[in-house]
Amino acid sequence: MESRRRVRVTGTVQGVGFRPFVYREATALSLSGYVRNDSAGVLIEVQGRPDDIAELCRRLVESPPPLARVESVEAVVVPPAAGDARFVIDASVDDGAANAPVSVDTATCEDCLREVDDPRDRRYGYAFTNCTNCGPRFTIVRSVPYDRPATTMAAFRMCAECEREYHDPGDRRFHAQPNACPACGPRLLFVSPGGDELAAGDGALAAAADALRGGSIIAIKGLGGYHLAVDAGNGWAVAELRRRKQRDDKPFALMAGDAAAAAALVELDDEAVAVLTSPRRPIVLAPRRPGATVASGVAPGLPERGVMLPYTAMHHLLVRSVGRPLVVTSGNRSDEPIAHEDDDAVDRLGPIADALLMHDRAIHIRCDDSIVRAGGAAPQVLRRSRGYAPEPIALPFTAGRAVLAVGAELKSTIAVTKGTTVVASHHIGDLEHLPAYRAFLQAVEHLPRLYGVVPEAVAHDLHPEYLSTKFAAELDLPAIGVQHHHAHAAACLVDHGRDGRVLALAFDGHGYGPDGTLWGGEFLLADFEACERVGHLAPVPLLGGSAAVREPWRMAAVWLRHAAGDAAAIDRVGRLDRRVGALLGTGPGTATTSMGRLFDAAAALVVGRARASYEGQAAIELEALARTVPLGGAPALPFEERREGGCLVLDPAPVLRALLAAEGGPAAAAMFHESVGHAAARGAATLAAAHGVGTVALTGGVFQNARLSAIVARALDAQGLEVLVHRRVPPNDGGISIGQAAVAAAQAR
Ligand code: ZN
Ligand code: ZN
Ligand code: FE
Repeated sequence: MESRRRVRVTGTVQGVGFRPFVYREATALSLSGYVRNDSAGVLIEVQGRPDDIAELCRRLVESPPPLARVESVEAVVVPPAAGDARFVIDASVDDGAANAPVSVDTATCEDCLREVDDPRDRRYGYAFTNCTNCGPRFTIVRSVPYDRPATTMAAFRMCAECEREYHDPGDRRFHAQPNACPACGPRLLFVSPGGDELAAGDGALAAAADALRGGSIIAIKGLGGYHLAVDAGNGWAVAELRRRKQRDDKPFALMAGDAAAAAALVELDDEAVAVLTSPRRPIVLAPRRPGATVASGVAPGLPERGVMLPYTAMHHLLVRSVGRPLVVTSGNRSDEPIAHEDDDAVDRLGPIADALLMHDRAIHIRCDDSIVRAGGAAPQVLRRSRGYAPEPIALPFTAGRAVLAVGAELKSTIAVTKGTTVVASHHIGDLEHLPAYRAFLQAVEHLPRLYGVVPEAVAHDLHPEYLSTKFAAELDLPAIGVQHHHAHAAACLVDHGRDGRVLALAFDGHGYGPDGTLWGGEFLLADFEACERVGHLAPVPLLGGSAAVREPWRMAAVWLRHAAGDAAAIDRVGRLDRRVGALLGTGPGTATTSMGRLFDAAAALVVGRARASYEGQAAIELEALARTVPLGGAPALPFEERREGGCLVLDPAPVLRALLAAEGGPAAAAMFHESVGHAAARGAATLAAAHGVGTVALTGGVFQNARLSAIVARALDAQGLEVLVHRRVPPNDGGISIGQAAVAAAQAR
């Protein structure tokens, strides 16, 4: 007895080889019918024995293709159809209401690499080899449904052989939209800094590899944008890259040929290797291996290195041809967004690079490399971009309305809610840079369209001067202001799929508080609906405004005055900068409870770092300095505690007085971490007990400090409290849009 079912599959099921997979399975089970893509995902009609249909549905859920993320499979009975006994793949239908998620960019698969390495294969040595299981996706998609004409591959007409693969349901490249070969696909170009072609194709790759071996700086167009690359072992080349890029100390990432080569550079445990070799291919931060042949200028003064593996055939071929690890850093000058358009690359990178390795496939969406810290309790995503965005993240509830969340200002991302998920964009950058703001405008238009979301509300930060806040105010939508640290807390809840009230420790550089001061050392009772401040770091004036972020000596002066008076502050901080007396004479300054600024102050005193060349540098160096002291290997000095306006206020004055008297060095750095960590945990335990909460969330950029996280988490754990630490969603402002989206969507559930 034959029956027929209509099966709806949702999730990331387009552009991932789902239809050929259904075709193969249905054919093997002797079922008839069809499969097709539509704007809701994949639609299947299937006819045959009921047991076989049930078996097909089981396989859809249990063994989908590697890149697919199946969210739901729903089958309804429909009347059997007469006639066709075959199973066919229907061409895509564009019914206008797009909402099928787009897959992430995915590293070259093993099958493709084998072809690239096989002299008898027609893709031997071809830099753009890909298939249904790998290759570019998000970065080349202009619109949905995901089909070749909707991508930047539309410019390339497939040759007869590629066409055959593309239309053969039994082929690994069936409907692989970026399918290409040397005869018909994108090709490499090696050009001078002025944009003149020097070589093409294989010759371009060989020329770039030669130049890199010879110590040249080469701009390389990859998947989501341009990198600047040099031989990582060549100290002169690394120094020259720093000089031309105008980048003083900020660490450079490395690209190693394979996991073994990476393991020679950094210490990798099994979990780190799994992240490093995953198809997402992020930069993995791990402790550097002493004696590795890497120029010291790669990451001056830091105990960690960022390492990634090649993620396109081009990168594999290039690194192999050079034969040594490369520095592969963002293709920009200073802190600007990376270049991803060719003319712009020649304009901006021409003056930095000795030559450019380009190609003629356009990048539609710029997408930086993602960054994951390995080690610690679990890998933590610090920058969620290529390979991760725009994969939806499950919400622990169904969004009552479609929300567009515009994020904060630094490390900007945006997000939209869609049903039971939130979709966050790639890393956009710091909105104060005009190209980043343009990318922001592109993203707020592009991301909702890709997901078929028509926003019904816009969520934004409370900071009136953020460009994202101003943008939200201009939209003709209900605007929902979400306090910065509430958004951090909500982001941590989303990360863990949690939907209850927690005590959140939100420690960061700063965020706008509802009282007009700059928060950043907050104890919040928070769930998605509400947020109440129940504790905070003692407030001090932020003298010098934003200059305080770049010049940690300023916060050292402010905190020392608070703890020990003017004379002590002027005497001690005067060694770092003679303007300290003048600074303390200014005022009053906006009050801040920022934990990030307290770390800056301590770093200025202990490390002697008066000026930072990148955000967080002082605090990162302070953590690095402490590393030779085991956890618990230094005393934890208590903070003063007081009650003010219903809040618990933690004052580090005793710790600062101790730093004033201390010698500096690792012992002082470790003492500061222990003191802050234990004071925070003590305050958290008191507040959790007072409010009947059993879970503490650690959120905000300061918790990228692995040492501080570990101290707080251990202390809370010892008190029987559950601790939530960020894993998938960045603890820094890159996660703000996700938290905003969840808060605004929860208001209407
Ligand atoms: Zn492949
Ligand atoms: Zn071809
Ligand atoms: Fe923040």
